[in-house]
Amino acid sequence: MHRSELTVDLGAVRRNARTLLRTLDGSQLWAVVKANAYGHGAIDVAGALVDEGAGALCVATVAEGLELRREFSLVRILVMGPTASSRQVAEAREAKLELAVWDEELPEGVRVHLKLDTGMGRWGLSELPALSAEVVGLMTHLATADSDPAFAEQQVELFREATEPYSDLMRHAANSAAALRLPSARFDAARCGVALYGLSPFGEDPAVDGLEPALSWHSYLAQVKQLQPGESTGYGRRFVAEKPTWIGIVPVGYGDGFRRDLTGTEVRVGGELRPVVGTVSMDAFAVELEREEPVGAPVTIIGQGVLAEAHAAVAGTINYEVLTGVVSDPRRARRVVVDA
Ligand SMILES: *Cc1c(COP(=O)(O)O)cnc(C)c1O
Repeated sequence: MHRSELTVDLGAVRRNARTLLRTLDGSQLWAVVKANAYGHGAIDVAGALVDEGAGALCVATVAEGLELRREFSLVRILVMGPTASSRQVAEAREAKLELAVWDEELPEGVRVHLKLDTGMGRWGLSELPALSAEVVGLMTHLATADSDPAFAEQQVELFREATEPYSDLMRHAANSAAALRLPSARFDAARCGVALYGLSPFGEDPAVDGLEPALSWHSYLAQVKQLQPGESTGYGRRFVAEKPTWIGIVPVGYGDGFRRDLTGTEVRVGGELRPVVGTVSMDAFAVELEREEPVGAPVTIIGQGVLAEAHAAVAGTINYEVLTGVVSDPRRARRVVVDA
């Protein structure tokens, strides 16, 4: 038996893409597959999304773009992060990647998307320079599409004003949150990541926006024991039994991406939600059981109604970080891709 199994359901990815395409109502869907498609597997996910009509694949680094180019010879690929060296620019040119840029001086012989900073306060120019023929797109990134729509609208309006004279270029501003709930931000394309994976950009139940989680994570009880009053489990004795207490040990820990701050979150053991107790260690965590359970009983860490959003709330972070942290190294977990 594997310590744990990750199942990526490309069918769910496809359905999420269709939901977004319906919502976008004519704007292109650009699939953000950086960071190994938020931990879901960039090549597998990109294949399904190109199939569903994604107009481009967006990544953070030239190396991520080159990996995709080897599999997808014709698809538009946009590198959104900074391109630090002339060697990277040359690689991008050779592989026909497109680059987001925010330098006064534009790289030559490679198609670029000029990035405006309209309020994110991160990458981007404060105003547009003279455009060269290499400029094929204009973009900006919203800081608060998930939390403060009024500020996001202001950013959209700044972007609209600055780019109005160039409406023949591809203009794009929306991320998942804006694609779903801020129609004014849609322009020619929306760069959607998290929603494609069935994760809520708002930290809510993704079903609210018609999204379906694509990744599930299963393991099992590798040991079951009863703690007597005063006995504890795990480092630091953070959980001490007050009464005779059954606990199960699951062979998954922070070395697998089950974060150390997930104590107190719930996983499903044989159908029931049960709390994670004690300190999460590198290779294991403990779960408090209602009663004795058989060794080998299935444990669902994500899936079957156990949401990454719920784990994120316990850990004080966002679902994005929970998923990008899941370790799919075959020496730690078995990864299965289904397309149902
Ligand atoms: C990551 C990223 C996105 C995608 O954001 P989601 O919230 O995952 O949809 C879009 N645009 C840029 C510039 C990004 O870096």
